[in-house]
Amino acid sequence: MLVKRGIAVSPGVNFGPALILGAEDFRIPRQFVSVNAIDTEIARLKSALDAVCEEIAVNEKLASDKLGEQYGAIFAAHLQMVSSPRLREEIETLIREKCYSPEHASSRVFRRYTKLVQHLGDNYLAERASDIIDLEKRLLKQLLGEKREELSNLTTPIIVLANNLTPSETAGLAKEFVLGFATEVGGRTSHTSILAGALEIPAVVGLGEFLSDISGGDMVIVDGNNGEVIIDPDEETLAKYKDTGERQRSMAARLASRRKIRSETKDGTRIHVMGNIEFPNEVEHCAERGADGIGLYRTEFLYLQSNTEPTEEVHYDAYCKVVQAAQNRPIVIRTLDLGADKIPRGYRHLAKEGMNPALGLRSVRLSLRDLPLFKTQLRAIFRAAVHGDVRIMFPLISTLLEWRQAKMIVGDVLEDLEERGVEFNPNIPIGMMVEVPAAALLAEEFAEEVDFFSIGTNDLIQYTLAVDRSDPAVSPLYNSSDPSILRLIKMVVEAAHKKNIPVTVCGQMSSDLKSIPLLAGLGIRQISATPLAIPEVKEVIRHLTIARAEEIAAHAMTIDVARDVESYLRGELYKICPDLFDEELPL
Ligand code: PEP
Ligand code: MG
Repeated sequence: MLVKRGIAVSPGVNFGPALILGAEDFRIPRQFVSVNAIDTEIARLKSALDAVCEEIAVNEKLASDKLGEQYGAIFAAHLQMVSSPRLREEIETLIREKCYSPEHASSRVFRRYTKLVQHLGDNYLAERASDIIDLEKRLLKQLLGEKREELSNLTTPIIVLANNLTPSETAGLAKEFVLGFATEVGGRTSHTSILAGALEIPAVVGLGEFLSDISGGDMVIVDGNNGEVIIDPDEETLAKYKDTGERQRSMAARLASRRKIRSETKDGTRIHVMGNIEFPNEVEHCAERGADGIGLYRTEFLYLQSNTEPTEEVHYDAYCKVVQAAQNRPIVIRTLDLGADKIPRGYRHLAKEGMNPALGLRSVRLSLRDLPLFKTQLRAIFRAAVHGDVRIMFPLISTLLEWRQAKMIVGDVLEDLEERGVEFNPNIPIGMMVEVPAAALLAEEFAEEVDFFSIGTNDLIQYTLAVDRSDPAVSPLYNSSDPSILRLIKMVVEAAHKKNIPVTVCGQMSSDLKSIPLLAGLGIRQISATPLAIPEVKEVIRHLTIARAEEIAAHAMTIDVARDVESYLRGELYKICPDLFDEELPL
């Protein structure tokens, strides 16, 4: 049994056989074979190895003829490895002595060599590890043949393990079969992590190198509550996790049963709790958990899930679906936030051009550069707004000029729609995300012109503290409790109150229970959280008085170190809401 620790990004606990993305990309169906079948299985291994040798020999000849012998030599080295008697013997021994299936035995042996090569202390050799992974993949393909179950076409549940998953890959995971995922890289608020939350798949990221310690088909537990991944668990550990999973499901069901109770403090102050969504079908998840509306609809997933650019009708259909499911509750549609880690297929050049994509042509900057893209989306939003309470929000606004340019485009779009004679609603609130420190510093000026603010703490923290939100190497520096963040939030809330406009917090901070009393104490009366967190956020609000929240916020503002603010907030949460920490939640 091996326990790896990383960053918990999507709650819940699940276990199942591992599928290692990048190595197999398909499932190893059996870990063991019966003793009687050993000779047949070894014969099957031999013919698969021979077939791989033939395949490589063809490639060697092709590369030598077309490119020259030095290129052919790459394949000659591969051939040498696959035909090595030592390798064959090692795999055979695992089949004979441990009754492993040839697939599982091969995966274990290749993984062991990968690890050895990675740790020889030579960068050139370490890069050759990918060659060994490639050979493993070829052999598994031969062994599994027709029986191969691809990631895109799974029929049984698995745990996905990978070095990294892009937001597009994550969006494509089949929720019915992916029980959980774990990656070597990634950060707490990277978009991949946010998507895991949206799909409600337990996930742990930033585990560091661990894929060479595991073989496809090994049993794995993903603990998305505590950020742990357990490989080859013993019986006792597995039983403990089964029990935890069941208790959590029953706690979630009990909280959900209280969904109709209004979200207000003990002293009667209403705090609206809305949901953050990435996909239209999540509106239902929000409603089931008692959300007051959708505070953030991240529309870029319309692009990340598709190979072609969505037309106005595709946008319109998605928005209408959300409007209909929201049943007159407000919906804040955020215009495209493409770029940085969210690069759809047709926009790959953006990743290459950007020296630092988080500071590059991202988000509203891209929309203002590519007006047909921006206008298509805006037209669809104004048309969908005929059917419900729709609001528009621009992401990553950094300057007043940028805001005014975006508003000007809105003016053009309204004229276009007028000319086209289609039905649309021109009178909808238009607000902005405050997620760049420059916007927070100029909040008073912005508040003169915008209809509402929504504070995006994920990016606000990244840009204020100069910490990449998806880089595990700096994740300890990424902290929503940093005094600088608290001050910026306070400034934005005060500016909004002064000009009498609504202000919401929609970054992941609003799903972090210990931050709820602080935010309420700073004057926040609208929160937009991930759907899974909504019941608990409401529960904390119901245990709170505004007077107590204000005391907590005032005290937190006097502390000068993030770590101390964090432990103070955690302690206060425990005092306010001990029920949430109880094994048996008395509701
Ligand atoms: C944020 O930055 O806090 C936010 C909500 O936007 P995203 O996470 O999509 O960048
Ligand atoms: Mg953001």
